[in-house]
Amino acid sequence: MIKVSNLSKKYGDHYAVKNLSFEIEKGKVYGFLGPNGAGKSTTMNIMTGYIAASAGDVEIDGHDILKEAEEAKKCIGYLPEMPPLYQDMTVKEYLDFVAELKKVAKSDRKKQVEEVMKKTFITDMQGRLIKNLSKGYKQRVGLAQAMIGNPDVIILDEPTVGLDPKQIIEIRELIRELKKEHTVILSSHILSEVAEVCDEIMIIAKGRLVASGSAENLLKELGSSNTIELTAKGSKKEVNEIIKSIDGVKSCTVDNAAGGCVECFISYDDKKEIRDDLCKKLVSKNIYIYRLLNNSKSLEDIFLELTDDAYVEKIEREEAAKEAEEKAKKEAEKKAKKASIAEQIIDEMKDDEDENEKTDAETTVETETDKKEEE
Ligand code: ADP
Ligand code: MG
Repeated sequence: MIKVSNLSKKYGDHYAVKNLSFEIEKGKVYGFLGPNGAGKSTTMNIMTGYIAASAGDVEIDGHDILKEAEEAKKCIGYLPEMPPLYQDMTVKEYLDFVAELKKVAKSDRKKQVEEVMKKTFITDMQGRLIKNLSKGYKQRVGLAQAMIGNPDVIILDEPTVGLDPKQIIEIRELIRELKKEHTVILSSHILSEVAEVCDEIMIIAKGRLVASGSAENLLKELGSSNTIELTAKGSKKEVNEIIKSIDGVKSCTVDNAAGGCVECFISYDDKKEIRDDLCKKLVSKNIYIYRLLNNSKSLEDIFLELTDDAYVEKIEREEAAKEAEEKAKKEAEKKAKKASIAEQIIDEMKDDEDENEKTDAETTVETETDKKEEE
């Protein structure tokens, strides 16, 4: 449905979006989740053809957003961060105007405008001037204009920002309704909102896509905190020694607890499963386990970790190192190629010299034979 490949947008030296790639499938609700300034609006503005990318491609239903803009844009309805509402028009006038702009067939306009007003519950407001509407109603008009032309994909940039709790619930309801007929992409800086309405979450930080998947998969893949809490019956010293001998354990603290038990807090390598070994070794020494808890992170922990400056800076450093490595590799290849060409030229020159010497020698021999023959 939508394919975004290696998208980058640079403002001066600063990347608003860096090397973003993802695909959007039909019929799902996608959520761009990221703190303010993460690059959500920039990405949406590029995807909808509002601004051009510095690099990369966006394909909508097989149409390039720049090369086949008209076809591509027909597939998308967009509610930007600042909806382009004409304050001095009535709701109906404005929607008629949008239908005309989107080249909806004249015979179809009236029906479509009525339909989107009905779906967004603004039919009663159609005669009101937009400037006199509440923020919640303005947002509904924004949604209605995105729906005109019945596009396959509806893109909503922070659709609930600035709304009161009741209005937020209403807009969320509308988004759920939209899902029945459209693929929806929305952005938000609020985790609970994205988790509630979206099937797929794309976490964006500093212009990078740092994780994506359903909430369930994100929890499964990134939710392990790599720590275990354990209560066992045994001596502090012995338990400590056994735990520390297990492959994959990074650190362990053991404290005495009631009833001859000890409480342990173990941190382990994220690529290892240490629980089997842990149980086997303790029990083999007659140390019985009363409680074992493999701690997991909440979606909020994951979000905070992935959008934390330190984490993103680590990604940036890795990117820079990789880029430097690739550059050095290319330079080395270029140097090697130059050297090989130089070698080839020298070889050819040598061959030519040899050839010339040979010809000179042959000419000398020939001249001498000629001389002898003349005599
Ligand atoms: P979000 O929508 O996630 O809050 P934006 O896409 O609006 O983030 O912005 C991403 C980054 O790009 C920010 O650092 C912002 O300051 C910068 N940015 C956005 N638009 C411009 C612009 N027109 N000129 C310069 N910098 C910009
Ligand atoms: Mg934004």
